[in-house]
Amino acid sequence: MDYQPSKNRYDHMTYRRCGKSGLKLPALSLGLWHNFGHVDVLENSRKILQAAFDAGITHFDLANNYGPPPGSAEENFGKILQSDFQGYRDQLVISTKAGYYMWEGPYGEWGSKKYLVSSLDQSLQRMKLDYVDIFYHHRPDPDTPLEETMAALDLIVRQGKALYVGISNYQAEDAAKAIGILKELGTPCLIHQPKYSMFERWVEGGLLDVLGDEGVGCIPFSPLAQGLLTDKYLKGIPEDSRAAKSHGFLQKSAITEDTLSKINQLNELARSRGQSLAQMALSWLLKDVRITSVLIGVSKTSQLEDSLKCLDNCSFSDEELANIEQILK
Ligand code: NDP
Repeated sequence: MDYQPSKNRYDHMTYRRCGKSGLKLPALSLGLWHNFGHVDVLENSRKILQAAFDAGITHFDLANNYGPPPGSAEENFGKILQSDFQGYRDQLVISTKAGYYMWEGPYGEWGSKKYLVSSLDQSLQRMKLDYVDIFYHHRPDPDTPLEETMAALDLIVRQGKALYVGISNYQAEDAAKAIGILKELGTPCLIHQPKYSMFERWVEGGLLDVLGDEGVGCIPFSPLAQGLLTDKYLKGIPEDSRAAKSHGFLQKSAITEDTLSKINQLNELARSRGQSLAQMALSWLLKDVRITSVLIGVSKTSQLEDSLKCLDNCSFSDEELANIEQILK
């Protein structure tokens, strides 16, 4: 059946300004790392995208290598854009990235201008798009001069292939350098995409301060630690979960007794706030005004519906925050 986006889709979502830019992003954005590849069921991916857009999620995050196989998430996204989102391009913020391994030979990964420009051209073809809204350098390259990588991002914007650029997985010091170079080139860094959750807090050791001071947005990925920060693993490993899938990136070995004990305690605390653990873990990130948007993944629409309710309560009492710290210690 033809998809008609909900008329009320902008009524409940909160949009936050991305750093000091003109762009606003929804408080929750949807990532296509898992559940959108050729190994997945296209109709399910389609339902997730429709449900997200209906809830006011305007921002979709991809990368050249998402699948599996690599590239297939972009292909499927392109198909769904054509079948369901014709006429809505100007209401969507579409991101992609390059940095990880994509093709053989010396030009298929890292941070050279050669790789970044070719990779984005391939991504645009797979998604059947003229441009993306945000193009990221996906991971720092220890060997390519940062000046070359940033010049490639600047070039891509000047060529009209991306409107904005960002960086991902850069530590505070390298992020500050990259932001400085981009500023000089006249293409400001829009956003940084780091891994950040209750279980992964390295960004608090300097990166968030750099981004806040420089007016660069921040979009944490894996905010639920790939599903650990939910109640799903409390009674074993469900068959349809990421940890159970051979192509899933969450290793069974990550589900230790110690982690389960923390999850149990956090789950109790979430309940006392009237939230699911997933909701509390997302609210906990959104309490910081430097966080522009939280980048979630979902394998089914019911998870999206659950997670969206985090927006109803993003404030924490001092006691709740202290309890969380105590549990995470
Ligand atoms: P999350 O930490 O949100 O994990 C998503 C998984 O958690 C889902 O697949 C699902 O697992 C489970 N889940 C989600 N919501 C709920 C819920 N309400 N209740 C119970 N379980 C739930 O994020 P991801 O790790 O998927 O990362 C999000 C996005 O971040 C990616 O799609 C990608 O766009 C980006 N990313 C960027 C990286 C980078 O290097 N820049 C690296 C990794 C991700 P299940 O499948 O078991 O049902």
